[in-house]
Amino acid sequence: MNDNLYRLIPSVDKLLSYSLTQNELNVLPKKWLSEQIGFFLDSYREKITQENITATELEFSSLCAKLSIFLLKKNSPQLKQVINATGVVLHTNMGRALLAKEAQIAVASICSNYSNLEFNLETGMRGSRYDHVEELLCSITGAEAAIVVNNNAAAVLLILDSFAKAKEVIVSRGQLVEIGGSFRIPDIMEKSGARLKEIGTTNRTHLKDYQNAITDDTVALLRVHTSNFRIIGFTHEEPLEALVALAKEKNIMLIEDLGSGSLDGFETLTLLHEPTVQKSIQAGVDIVSFSGDKVLGGPQAGVIVGKKEYIDTLKKNPLTRALRIDKLTLVALEATLRLYRDKDLAREKIPTLAMLYISKEDLAKKAQELFSLINNKNQTLTITLKDGFSKVGGGAFPEQNLATTLIIISSSKENAQNLKTKLRENTMPIIARIEDDFLCLDVRTIAKEDFNLILLALEKL
Ligand SMILES: *Cc1c(COP(=O)(O)O)cnc(C)c1O
Repeated sequence: MNDNLYRLIPSVDKLLSYSLTQNELNVLPKKWLSEQIGFFLDSYREKITQENITATELEFSSLCAKLSIFLLKKNSPQLKQVINATGVVLHTNMGRALLAKEAQIAVASICSNYSNLEFNLETGMRGSRYDHVEELLCSITGAEAAIVVNNNAAAVLLILDSFAKAKEVIVSRGQLVEIGGSFRIPDIMEKSGARLKEIGTTNRTHLKDYQNAITDDTVALLRVHTSNFRIIGFTHEEPLEALVALAKEKNIMLIEDLGSGSLDGFETLTLLHEPTVQKSIQAGVDIVSFSGDKVLGGPQAGVIVGKKEYIDTLKKNPLTRALRIDKLTLVALEATLRLYRDKDLAREKIPTLAMLYISKEDLAKKAQELFSLINNKNQTLTITLKDGFSKVGGGAFPEQNLATTLIIISSSKENAQNLKTKLRENTMPIIARIEDDFLCLDVRTIAKEDFNLILLALEKL
């Protein structure tokens, strides 16, 4: 009986001829179409082998309809836009920070034109790509010098490789963190060739632990901002000032991995208190590194600021070339940093900051707007509004919940899990979350421009 089914499988040429009669398909490269039709038919042969298909499903018209969907899906880019309806502002799986308009425009211009990336327009001589952001970083953070690399993991690696190879670096056990995507402080130290000397305990590390650990082999104290978790209760970590004083007294470096690297104190957001880069520099830390695409709200990058003699050493390390920042990233970072020259401007124009600073009242209004648009458009859905919380994400402010208004959706046909899956499989994927068995959309991370796309998706459910 299988043999009969195999005979129903059309030739590649026959399906290719069909494809060339279809408007959306006949614009695609013929060679690619043939190849994909081959794969498509293989999958049907496989189904027959597994006795997992009927003759009706193999009718030519049915195959053609399936083929169109298959080809259109295959032809869409793999990396694509999604709607983040989770309310997690810095979602690592969804690309972390969104770029400000100013940064997008700058990228568009630099990517399609020649630029002065490494060309000094005043002297007509070779220039340095790092110069374009160094002055800005120094003026914003108060540091003497700065350099940027591919990401913060690279920044930490470069710093340790430059100063701590085969030497001892002291880290509190309470700060030996793992960051998402398998970046672990002890592992990166090992890769750099630095010797990790763990001190103190998970919850308490004192100045005397640092003092007792320092030997002639010690080059630095490393302080890691544990941005993605908090140990609460009976805890102690030495304040920055005490470590600065100790490092100075012993003539060793104090290095700080700030993780999120806030350039904005978030003073007006009552809940949020993240150490700023400015504070570390002011306190006298020798070298501070942080991410470009966490709360800073720029592109993926690792920013290093600190004393000029140390930054100069980093610039000369051959590893810097291997970790170097791309021109598109650099120009996006410059455009983002320019916005930081005016705090209010930064909070308005940098999407990450805008999404963190939006008021509870404005979120309620935004939710009401989406609600009015989608309510009563699909009779199988029940839609309500409810107070809830959003998260910062990106390992920042782990225990901080930001008040928001959630759109709660339930269906007379499907459970919440199925609704969530269907929205994810939408042409424009919508990533929602489930809370107390209900599907919810958090408008904090949804652009108003996407409201109509959400309506279209809900109408189809
Ligand atoms: C996020 C983070 C890193 C890694 O930064 P990337 O820019 O993602 O490479 C390193 N250290 C700390 C403390 C972090 O929070």
